[in-house]
Amino acid sequence: MARRKLLFGNWKMNKTIAESRDFAKESKQLLKFANEKGVDIGVAPVYLSLAAVKEENPELTVAAENCHYEDHGAFTGEIAIPMLKEIGISWVIIGHSERRSYFGETDETCNKKLLALQAANMTPIYCVGETLEQFEAGKTKAVIKEQIEKGLANLDKEFVNKMVIAYEPVWSIGTGKNASKEIAQDICSFIRELVHEQFGEVSENVRILYGGSVKPENVHDYLLQADVDGALVGGASLKVESFKALIQNI
Ligand code: PEP
Repeated sequence: MARRKLLFGNWKMNKTIAESRDFAKESKQLLKFANEKGVDIGVAPVYLSLAAVKEENPELTVAAENCHYEDHGAFTGEIAIPMLKEIGISWVIIGHSERRSYFGETDETCNKKLLALQAANMTPIYCVGETLEQFEAGKTKAVIKEQIEKGLANLDKEFVNKMVIAYEPVWSIGTGKNASKEIAQDICSFIRELVHEQFGEVSENVRILYGGSVKPENVHDYLLQADVDGALVGGASLKVESFKALIQNI
């Protein structure tokens, strides 16, 4: 079965509830356009805006940018999976490099979150990627291997089968410095091999996205690569026109 392309917007800490609502209203035409092109789309707003975006466009796939692995308890400032489910959210981004570098996320905490999402029957977008220092030292594959093996430890095949993995070299996020399409293909195909070693044939169904300064001008090159099934997009996903241009140019 061919993997459907997926364009996912990571809004990070941008947009108020009102601004998110405005985007969500306009996203109806985006979704129609994406359906015509045979592409899946989704967005990840801040927690506060999740319910508003869902309310304005219940058809749009909406992800939280993070979650906690416990269902409740003494974790001030955190949000639990049942709270997300209550407002109709079934997708969550896990292990974004900004979470890893600014908020101490590790492969171990990502693994706990993925196991909790599995138990809750949710869909994760698990992010991996090397820093500039690791890239320059030629350690990219060693870093990715560890992030995949530790992050996906003890997951069930059935869950892995529907998960999304995003390869985001840290040095290309928000910097305007893209990884080449060759690097994106090489690492996405490497990730698929690693998933195959751990989980077998389901690796063929896992959607692997590239992320890092994806823009309407370069999205096409990435998506032409055999193992790149879409893109996780920050800056260029914030405006409806720019999101539309991403779909247009896919
Ligand atoms: C991201 O936030 O995951 C990302 C890839 O950001 P940008 O597209 O702005 O580089």
